[in-house]
Amino acid sequence: MPELPEVETTVRGLARFLEGKRLVRARVNRPDMRRPFPPGLVQMLTGARVTGLGRRAKFGLIHTDRGQTLVFHLGMSGRWRIDPATDDRHDHLVIETEEHRFALCDPRRFGWVDLVPTESLDAWPSFAGMGPEPLGDDLTVAHLHTALKGRKQAIKLLLLDQRIVAGLGNIYVCEALFRARIDPRKAGGSVSRAALARLVPAIREVLEQSIADGGSTLRDYARPDGELGYFATRFDVYGREGEPCRRDDGGTIRRVAQGGRSTWFCPRCQR
Ligand SMILES: [Zn+2]
Repeated sequence: MPELPEVETTVRGLARFLEGKRLVRARVNRPDMRRPFPPGLVQMLTGARVTGLGRRAKFGLIHTDRGQTLVFHLGMSGRWRIDPATDDRHDHLVIETEEHRFALCDPRRFGWVDLVPTESLDAWPSFAGMGPEPLGDDLTVAHLHTALKGRKQAIKLLLLDQRIVAGLGNIYVCEALFRARIDPRKAGGSVSRAALARLVPAIREVLEQSIADGGSTLRDYARPDGELGYFATRFDVYGREGEPCRRDDGGTIRRVAQGGRSTWFCPRCQR
């Protein structure tokens, strides 16, 4: 499942080929993905110039000179294919510039796209009320301290709440809490300010490391038939239950269920 680093890598990959380019053709191969394609999508895209790309949480943004932004979510299995040599029956949306063709391929169809007036993106339902970007300047110790104050829920679950931090998924919350030496089961309101001061840079580091890993994979993928969206990275706790802690502290990585999802952590060094 694509997390924030995969979306960021996808956006950067697309930007290299799309920024400043005019879309000469667009088509949809079915009426919907997880949601119906917005009315007028093909007409709006055809002939539009891409003025820039961006990301908000796990959504990719393709801004156009028509005052409209194409917002895409990769769902569980979505990816953009650049210059695919063959058609795939899961290519649901295809856009073309003079030089390249881009297909949004999503076998499971949990992904979706929307068209949003660029000037009102912040008010778009999925973005309204969303917390700060984890890689932006607004994610500060003070913000987390205020947002977590008095909260009894586990810090792990609170960090997955998009109103507190945008776009953090299960893997990266587990990794960041390990890096910051915080027990994921601890009540959010009882995490010390000193621990939060470790957590903020830890969140940035795990995401940036993964984006860097994705970037190196992407160089290999910058070729015809390349696919953007997935890559392997080295995790410290995610999926490592029963294995020794990388801190060599004698701890063994444990897996527990929180909010119906797995959490991995080292009970020795995460307090
Ligand atoms: Zn440990």
